[in-house]
Amino acid sequence: MLVESDNHVKDSLDLLSKSWSIDPEVYDLHLGKRNDVADTVIEVNGVVFHIPTLADDNLYVLWKCIWPDCHNCCERQGRLPLTKDDIKIIAKKMGYVSESEFIKTETRFSSWEKQEPLDKVITTLTMLSLKRNSNEREEQDGTPLKCRFLDDRGYCGIHPDKPGVCWLYPFASWIESDKQKAVIHATFQLTGDCPGFYASKTLDPIKPVLNEYSEKIYDYNMAVSRTTRENYSSINIIDLQRI
Ligand code: SF4
Ligand code: SF4
Repeated sequence: MLVESDNHVKDSLDLLSKSWSIDPEVYDLHLGKRNDVADTVIEVNGVVFHIPTLADDNLYVLWKCIWPDCHNCCERQGRLPLTKDDIKIIAKKMGYVSESEFIKTETRFSSWEKQEPLDKVITTLTMLSLKRNSNEREEQDGTPLKCRFLDDRGYCGIHPDKPGVCWLYPFASWIESDKQKAVIHATFQLTGDCPGFYASKTLDPIKPVLNEYSEKIYDYNMAVSRTTRENYSSINIIDLQRI
């Protein structure tokens, strides 16, 4: 699973705990305090999911979205990177005739690093991101901001035309090459901002969720590939094993 810096996650979890009850095992997992975390791998519709498993307690950490009771991911949105498809769809939704005008007015570049759990590489991604508010500044990239499209009832003002990343959260996904074949992997982002994680003795409750998200994750990765291929974004990879 992808875990952000412990301090940031602790602050987010403590904030979350004021409104939601978080299983103690889930809380500790977020903070990297469990030494017994194993990886349960489930392949669904061509996507390889990695489910955190707490071996000592014989528990899986699963997730379900509890919207509309919760809309914390939109209250504390860190970054909204856009695929080429997102740009086209959202520009139209926001009433822009010209995509270049939309890009100039509503987006900015963001750049961030990812280190995938199964790989010894650091990937730096640079993509156009949708501004979360019209005054968003460069130094706010990656820090939580309330998204301007969230309304008072917890609805998204540009749904269903919201960015692909909004459909994916809290999954993170990446592509790895296996025997010259591209394989899509997915796991949870444990940022401390989502109260939907829970400990379970069985994997059964997550199976319909994985089925639903496998399609979204597959389509999103294809859209990111097209975006990179057409130079709307760039990816720089550093192989730590070769340094
Ligand atoms: S994904 Fe998590 S944070 Fe977002 S609405 Fe669902 S439960 Fe809340
Ligand atoms: S675009 Fe919509 S779904 Fe995405 S963060 Fe904003 S309000 Fe939430």
